[in-house]
Amino acid sequence: MLKVGLTGGIGSGKSTVSRQMSAYRGVVVVDADLIAREVVEPGTPGLAGVVEEFGPSVLREDGTLDRDALGAVVFGDDERRKALSAILHPLIGELSGQRWAEAEAGGATVLVHDVPLLVEAGLTNMYDEVVVVDVPVEVQAQRLVELRGMSESDARARIASQAAREARLAAATTVLDNSGTVADLTKQVERLASKWDLTPA
Ligand code: ADP
Repeated sequence: MLKVGLTGGIGSGKSTVSRQMSAYRGVVVVDADLIAREVVEPGTPGLAGVVEEFGPSVLREDGTLDRDALGAVVFGDDERRKALSAILHPLIGELSGQRWAEAEAGGATVLVHDVPLLVEAGLTNMYDEVVVVDVPVEVQAQRLVELRGMSESDARARIASQAAREARLAAATTVLDNSGTVADLTKQVERLASKWDLTPA
């Protein structure tokens, strides 16, 4: 099983690529964002650990995690952020490993691990290939404003909070250039799929 890490800055087109790749036979996509949510679902040791550390004010009335409240608590506070990571990262690592093993046991030939902060988290060495969806910062900001309804300053701040474009490119074994149309991007995904001997499902 080929282990592929897929990443890209916010608004780069990573989800688009991930969706296209999942349409090939033998590909299993594991979504790191979904796993990060799963480990803090109600009733999990993850959520219990977070409440123990940060108190019940990070819970909504229905008992689910209030991400905005938790985000406000850890924002700009390194110690608190580290405390949160210490609780969540081992759980995320364990569940991701479990999903990889399930994919392999199920006969997947390519595992695509979709990880927005792959480079930031220093995970490059976990993969056979690191695929980076790349756009110039100007295009990235423009798409976040036009397609996601963000304000220009919010888009810029989010882009600035992630790894620099250069750092992502330095980690890449394959770069998908998404500065053109979606059709241009699709062609590059098709080329990659053919390099990996994949056929549409
Ligand atoms: P990410 O997952 O990296 O944040 P998405 O795949 O969700 O990015 O893409 C961000 C937005 O840009 C979406 O609305 C998507 O449909 C759109 N998009 C992606 N690629 C292109 C492109 N080449 N041209 C125009 N819009 C695009």
